[in-house]
Amino acid sequence: MRAEHRVVPSPRRIGAEMVAIDEGADIDLDLRLEAVSEGVLVTGTVEADTTGECSRCLEPFEGNVSLPVTELFAYRDSETEATTEEGEVYLVEDDTIDLEPVIVDAVGLALPFQPLCSEDCLGLCPECGVRLAIAEPGHGHDILDPRWAGLAAKFGLDAAAGSDAGDKNDSNPEEK
Ligand SMILES: [Zn+2]
Ligand SMILES: [Zn+2]
Repeated sequence: MRAEHRVVPSPRRIGAEMVAIDEGADIDLDLRLEAVSEGVLVTGTVEADTTGECSRCLEPFEGNVSLPVTELFAYRDSETEATTEEGEVYLVEDDTIDLEPVIVDAVGLALPFQPLCSEDCLGLCPECGVRLAIAEPGHGHDILDPRWAGLAAKFGLDAAAGSDAGDKNDSNPEEK
């Protein structure tokens, strides 16, 4: 068994369309390489910073991905290679293992297709497109079309009457 801890630059952008590890960004590999009968078993953690664009508010944001990896690299002519479809198993080639496709697959599966800058991102105003995180509190739009304004007033009155009635009902038991 051999432990390998290396920090390598990402050979290219790795990830999904809206969030990824940038080309050249550090990828931290903390791995155990074990000789097993069929090849080399690689286990450990892959960690890197990511950059992305929020799918809700479109702001750029930075994040981090940390993934467990477990992958067997089979020896050529091993039982595993012989019994596995070509391309379905990674191979030890010239005493070397190539972790890049393993990392590309793992990171691609782990990063979300619709990343968010924060869990509770408010997104954009559907009326004007302003980012609600920087809009004034209670940001909204009055309905200016007079045909709708009449309806809004009607519903506004109804709602007020309803809440008045509710208040009275609530206060009655206390007064008695
Ligand atoms: Zn956002
Ligand atoms: Zn707005």
